Amino acid sequence: MKAQEVFDVYKENILPTYTKTPLVFVKGKGSRIWDVHNKEYLDFFPGWGVGNLGHCHPKVMQAVRDQVSKLIFIPNNYYHIPQAKLAKEIVELSFPGKVFFCNSGAEANEGAIKLSRKFGKGRYEIITFENSFHGRTLATITATGQKKYQQGFEPLPEGFKTVKFNDLNAVKQAITEKTVAIMLELIQGEGGVNVASKEFVLGVRKLCDEKNLLLIVDEVQTGIGRTGKMFCFEHYGVTPDIMTLAKALGGGLPIGMMVVKKEISDTLGPGTHASTFGGGPVIVRAALAVLQAMNKEKILPAAKKMSGYLFGKLNALKEKYPVIKEVRGIGLMAGVELNMPGKAIVEKCLEKGLLINCTHDTVLRLMPALNVTQKEVDKALNIIEGALQ
Ligand SMILES: *Cc1c(COP(=O)(O)O)cnc(C)c1O
Repeated sequence: MKAQEVFDVYKENILPTYTKTPLVFVKGKGSRIWDVHNKEYLDFFPGWGVGNLGHCHPKVMQAVRDQVSKLIFIPNNYYHIPQAKLAKEIVELSFPGKVFFCNSGAEANEGAIKLSRKFGKGRYEIITFENSFHGRTLATITATGQKKYQQGFEPLPEGFKTVKFNDLNAVKQAITEKTVAIMLELIQGEGGVNVASKEFVLGVRKLCDEKNLLLIVDEVQTGIGRTGKMFCFEHYGVTPDIMTLAKALGGGLPIGMMVVKKEISDTLGPGTHASTFGGGPVIVRAALAVLQAMNKEKILPAAKKMSGYLFGKLNALKEKYPVIKEVRGIGLMAGVELNMPGKAIVEKCLEKGLLINCTHDTVLRLMPALNVTQKEVDKALNIIEGALQ
């Protein structure tokens, strides 16, 4: 198929739910990706947060090939070894507890909402934050503190309250006898790379302890090394009661996971929650390969080092170009807030062979693969500087 043909077939046959960039991609390797015309791009937003190891990591490819030839799928009323291994590894890496396997971030958050309600025994209100993003199902758009994702889909499910991010008093005031949980992104990704303050997170944790509320930390975007640690909560010295994961965990394959602390890990008993494809052998082999590669290739220290380099360069750009209002983020999750819409910059970068994202109208979002090289960072920053000029 020629590119134009592909666009036409999409137009005729696929719901127009996405704002699309007219590019047809055919292969990827690390931080590079090629379109149907064999034009090479540097991908600084691989998979919207899925590509923490870049495209087509050899270890992931090998694991998937091997598993596909043995057993592609087995449902959750039976046992299989890769699922046992992945669950054990995630629990060891995060906190004592148990996991639930599903297929996406929204589904993981739905699980967290259901578990909270079951735990609440009549308490059901969940406090969430302005500019948060938790997914596209009915419950998760309601948890998402942005009207634009909710409009037209009313009536929304009951039991969610949205308050100002980083405002502990607002949280305190929102708590009632019906409150059961607080759902939080430590860095709001889609909402503009807004970093939660340490004071705020410690305060929220304390409130949860005092009022017997569950702290649900949505690490769908910040997890699996994105911030230079395996999970973002490690930067804060707090432990969630429930953590949700998805995006980068499967190395490009669809996976979601809810990690639940030990004390409440039997809240959802047999028959209360399920997901047919959750934790299937091929996907969990891919996830195991991701974790193994991160360990063997010392991805976290490398990402931390590259973070210093990237933010150094971004801050230098900020000094030089007054159009940059603020540079923020942790690890390799970077937001560059402009005092103008970022769309034109993204398009200019694309012309020059660099893929980045703009969120919340004015925030350029860079989330390169954690194994990005210094040379690639230099190249990307040169292109961004050219676009700013
Ligand atoms: C992407 C994202 C989700 C939704 O994940 P899906 O896999 O698209 O359902 C939820 N929370 C956060 C923080 C995200 O970045």
